[in-house]
Amino acid sequence: MEKREKLYEGKAKIIYATDVNDLVIQHFKDDATAFDGVKKDTVLGKGVANNNISSKLFTLLEKEGIKTHFEKKLNENEMLVKSVEIIQVETIVRNISAGSFCRKYGVEEGIVFDKPTVEFSYKSDEFHDPLMNDDHIRVMKLATEAEIDEIRTKALQINEILKKFFDSIGIIVVDFKLEFGRYKGEVILADEISPDTCRFWDKETKKKLDKDRFRFDLGDVEETYAEMMKRIGG
Ligand code: UDP
Repeated sequence: MEKREKLYEGKAKIIYATDVNDLVIQHFKDDATAFDGVKKDTVLGKGVANNNISSKLFTLLEKEGIKTHFEKKLNENEMLVKSVEIIQVETIVRNISAGSFCRKYGVEEGIVFDKPTVEFSYKSDEFHDPLMNDDHIRVMKLATEAEIDEIRTKALQINEILKKFFDSIGIIVVDFKLEFGRYKGEVILADEISPDTCRFWDKETKKKLDKDRFRFDLGDVEETYAEMMKRIGG
């Protein structure tokens, strides 16, 4: 597999072309950003941790019947993935109140919901990822009604699989963000699943084990990514 030119560079990842038509390389960087890119730093070892964690979680989801873009882990920082057309909608699942939910609705962190919530936002740095409902997604032609239904169903299935797995290693899944892409007429899970895109709390101590440690300068940032990689066994 020969690595070719850089196709896209985002805040935390780079996509490279390969000599195989519909496969690309997803490279995980140590760069960390928060608050719309206002806070920036390097978190040593984050790229390796997120690549290993995402590889492990995509493998778990595939085993449970969820189609993903994941092909295989290539090396410590890179995975081989299917080249998808990313749907420009972020899907967020919440089990417990945190982050923007608390800010938006003025509620405390840590309220356990009786059923998970699914919400969508427009994947646009320029417009700061505004919340969208199904109708907005449809009229903006970001996805069809059938695709939205499929994404919501898959997001909730993924939540059940992740909650069960993380519970077995003493971790609570608070919330997470997913991105889906179109591939050969199907909608499949893409992007990453990592402490950058999820909130994880230790079941016993309630210690935050995710990017909130970076966002709010809580300390142990590098150590937390390394610990999560170890606990997940990526
Ligand atoms: N999230 C993400 N990318 C985004 C927005 C959110 O990965 O652009 C993740 C975030 O890490 C958290 C979940 O989605 O696990 C819910 O984020 P929230 O809406 O609470 O926003 P935040 O507090 O990060 O501003």
